[in-house]
Amino acid sequence: MPELPEVETTRRGIRTAMRGRRIVRFELRDHRLRWPVAPAIARELPGQRVRDVGRRAKYLLIELERGTLIAHLGMSGSLRVVPAGTPWLKHDHYEVELDSGRCLRFNDPRRFGSLHWVTGDPLEHPLLARLGPEPLERGFDGACLAARARGRRIAVKQFLLDQHTVVGVGNIYASEALFRAGIHPRRAAGRVSRARYDRLAGSVREVLEDAIRQGGTTLRDYVSADGTPGYFRQELFVYERAGQPCRRCGATIRKLAQGQRSTYFCPRCQT
Ligand SMILES: [Zn+2]
Repeated sequence: MPELPEVETTRRGIRTAMRGRRIVRFELRDHRLRWPVAPAIARELPGQRVRDVGRRAKYLLIELERGTLIAHLGMSGSLRVVPAGTPWLKHDHYEVELDSGRCLRFNDPRRFGSLHWVTGDPLEHPLLARLGPEPLERGFDGACLAARARGRRIAVKQFLLDQHTVVGVGNIYASEALFRAGIHPRRAAGRVSRARYDRLAGSVREVLEDAIRQGGTTLRDYVSADGTPGYFRQELFVYERAGQPCRRCGATIRKLAQGQRSTYFCPRCQT
């Protein structure tokens, strides 16, 4: 599944190709995505210039002159920039053609991706309105984690995955950030000290920034005709390393199940 670093890398890639360009055509081959795509988009978009491409959580915000496209990659989606007229591939669902002779093409075998057109403030759209803070922006810190955790018994790993706590911290990054901060994933969120939340906020930022840096080197894959998304294989300390020695202390990395997902941790480094 594309995680926040992949979405951010996609944003940077398509922003370069789209910003300042005018849309000449929108084509929808299949409206059956996670939610049906409104056919009106094909009438609204042509003639509009792309002001910018932003992001909120894992939603890409393609800002036009009279509204915003809100695009989500779902479980298996990818957005590529290809020359106009490139033959459609299986699972290509829509394209946005630009006056540069290139177009943005969306491919998604599992169809959990989505595309919405809004004319008001996109941040007030029901999909975005109640999301927690952005992990890479000012305002995300130990104080904000501690405030949200106060009195809560939920495991800190689950707390970190909750989009009301902070957005875009997926399973890989939650495991890695907790390792770097030395916090046991099963510890109750309300029983993590403020000092440790300061460390955790820093390590969340660090793992995401590392992954984005890594992604920068594969950016080309995201904007080429045959680009397919994948996890950035950064140096991982615990994720999918059960049974192997901890890179820090040598103890055996363990795996446990939390909310139907696997959590990896070092029983010695994390308390
Ligand atoms: Zn260890």
